[in-house]
Amino acid sequence: MYADVIVDISHEKLDKPFSYRVPERLEGKLEAGMCVTVPFGGGNKLIKGFVTGFRETCPFDPDKAKEIRDIAQDSVGVEEKLMALAVWLRKNYGSTMIQALKTVLPAKQTVKRLAHRTVRRTLGREETLSLLGECQRKKQVAKARLLSALLEQEEIPYEWLTGKLGVSGQTVGSLERAGALQVVSRESFRDPVKLESGPEEKKKLDEAQREIVEAVMEDLEAGTPRTYLIHGITGSGKTEVYLELIERVVKKGRQAVMLIPEIALTYQTLLRFYRRFGSRVSVMNSMLSPGEKYDQCQRARKGEIDVIIGPRSALFTPFPDIGIIVMDEEHEGSYKSESSPKYHAREAALEVARLHGAAVVLGSATPSLEAYSRAESGQYRLFTLSRRLTGGSLPTVYTVDLSRELREGNRSIFSRKLAELLADRLDKGEQSILFLNRRGYAGFVSCRSCGHVMKCPHCDVSLSEHTGGRLVCHYCGFGQPKPARCPKCGSGYIGGFKAGTQQIEEKLREMFPRARCLRMDGDTTKTKDSYSRILSSFANREADVLIGTQMIVKGHDFPGVTLVGVLAADLSLGAADYRAGERTFQLLTQAVGRAGRGTAPGEAVIQTYQPEHYAVVYAAAQDYEGFYREEMLYRELLGYPPASHLLAVQIFGGDRQKAYLLAERLAQSLRESLPGQAALMGPAPASIEKLNDIFRFVFYIKCREYDTLVQIKDRAEELLKQWQPQESVQFDFDPVHTL
Ligand code: ADP
Ligand code: ZN
Ligand code: ZN
Repeated sequence: MYADVIVDISHEKLDKPFSYRVPERLEGKLEAGMCVTVPFGGGNKLIKGFVTGFRETCPFDPDKAKEIRDIAQDSVGVEEKLMALAVWLRKNYGSTMIQALKTVLPAKQTVKRLAHRTVRRTLGREETLSLLGECQRKKQVAKARLLSALLEQEEIPYEWLTGKLGVSGQTVGSLERAGALQVVSRESFRDPVKLESGPEEKKKLDEAQREIVEAVMEDLEAGTPRTYLIHGITGSGKTEVYLELIERVVKKGRQAVMLIPEIALTYQTLLRFYRRFGSRVSVMNSMLSPGEKYDQCQRARKGEIDVIIGPRSALFTPFPDIGIIVMDEEHEGSYKSESSPKYHAREAALEVARLHGAAVVLGSATPSLEAYSRAESGQYRLFTLSRRLTGGSLPTVYTVDLSRELREGNRSIFSRKLAELLADRLDKGEQSILFLNRRGYAGFVSCRSCGHVMKCPHCDVSLSEHTGGRLVCHYCGFGQPKPARCPKCGSGYIGGFKAGTQQIEEKLREMFPRARCLRMDGDTTKTKDSYSRILSSFANREADVLIGTQMIVKGHDFPGVTLVGVLAADLSLGAADYRAGERTFQLLTQAVGRAGRGTAPGEAVIQTYQPEHYAVVYAAAQDYEGFYREEMLYRELLGYPPASHLLAVQIFGGDRQKAYLLAERLAQSLRESLPGQAALMGPAPASIEKLNDIFRFVFYIKCREYDTLVQIKDRAEELLKQWQPQESVQFDFDPVHTL
């Protein structure tokens, strides 16, 4: 008996199983997917590997066959389903088998038990309330925040306090000395929270919500589960639907996976799940150590939990019988993996659901074009929730033409309208958010006078400015010198955007010296907790204005905000990427929706050089359908996903010339055998051509048939196996992140 073993080294050359003899003592014990130790190479060094299958005869001289040493300590047998998933990932996204296995396997095999601390309330409800009142009078906001949290829930994990709530260790210490609380150490993350039997949280679903729940359950019970898309604005009751569905599925003895972009997982949402499912729910996030993640997998395997909440990797929780997979904020870019295999959680969820016979429920206020077009074609079942259950009305939106401001003599980064409304809010003591959507910003060039953006004539995406003043297309490699005057209106005001959040903060302080402002961007959120600290400080009204990048438009709710200003909608419109319009629409819609969540009505100002751009127009009108139709036309016309499929082949190498030559050679060879319906563009330098001293090139292949792209990828892998280049090559199907 021989076993095929993949050794634990992530390199293309080793991406084939080696055959090992199975010693008699292990026969019958060994299963596919197990982790074993094997001697490897000339020195017979002992390394780890995964068993991928068995064979009766040795494919080479049996005398040369080595023997499996042992089953690795603490090894995890991958269930067949996970194994099948790894094979599917490898086939559809292109990676080594070992990378695919590592994606679906719990990160590490050793469990290190960490003591976990929680904070427990020791005072009674009344006494805590009076202490809270005292802290509020003394404006001790952090203490007040901690006390109100403890009123909601008697015991809270320490990390939540310092993380989500932004409470310092000092604050906890001083309240502990005052006898209000106690810090308790626990052995592990199990039973992370003891919940107070508070008022029953469960809401009676309204008709629209009930219709969704009934439809999904009916299909599930009939054994014909489908994929469902819930299109509903924030506050329209989607989470309540998820909770109900998950509860019903769990009652039937099956398990549930709740996918959520980590950044959007708020304390409130977590509480809602804990209240419903108690210790039967577990949360997966980046704060867990690999040992803890492994521990959670073990609990799932043993049937100790029914529900897992987490980012895309929660999909690979080794549950025996998943009944439902919910994916909230389905449009989020973080659902696409940025390392090989570069899978999309939506597609992987569909595959997990197929293997388990589970339903998939997608939810979003601004669905991806992929999901919405499938709903349109009847592949998914579409539901719409259009009523905001939390009250508050949609804000009034003003679109300001920045080139007109310039013509009329205002050179400031604040339009007159925005400045006027800001002054008004500061007067009234209401809060404002200033948003700089810098995402995808890659040095594009536009005219400040007429708004004209320099675009590639072949790909209709923005050209990016490279050093030396050349403009380059990152899809096809087209290049031209940067013009001195705008080709459309002849103005000399042509160039790149330079404004950053810091500059905005300075200008704001200049104009409104008394305004208290907070800034949130890559610089101010370097430490682990600073992100939540800034958010909770703003939520506690410790500042009047919050300035930030896209980080601030997600998750947290700020009822005190009545004004949102988008400083330059063009920044994300100019991204050198075919999804620029979609991202801009999503960001603007989210940003605008931040105003007026409370009782006071809200207003939003969108500043832009392209006031007529459809992404701006439809976002201002909060019209998803309209945006969808227009964006879909553009995708159809140019053959971008979801109208067609796109494969990015990315080449990474330390030597610029050699990396480029490999890209050229690979592209050329693929071109020669390219099927008629496919088209190859490039190669071109990546938008960040050099990162950490590694040069990056990319070329794209468009084709309507996904499977054809998979075949082209297989062909590329074959060629690379023959050529054995030093450079590494990665594949990205229907890319979301541009390189
Ligand atoms: P979403 O997930 O779409 O943002 P939620 O499910 O969080 O919406 O609901 C928004 C708010 O409305 C929550 O405070 C929730 O408790 C409340 N809510 C949801 N469904 C109902 C309902 N059927 N009746 C009353 N309140 C509800
Ligand atoms: Zn111009
Ligand atoms: Zn181009």
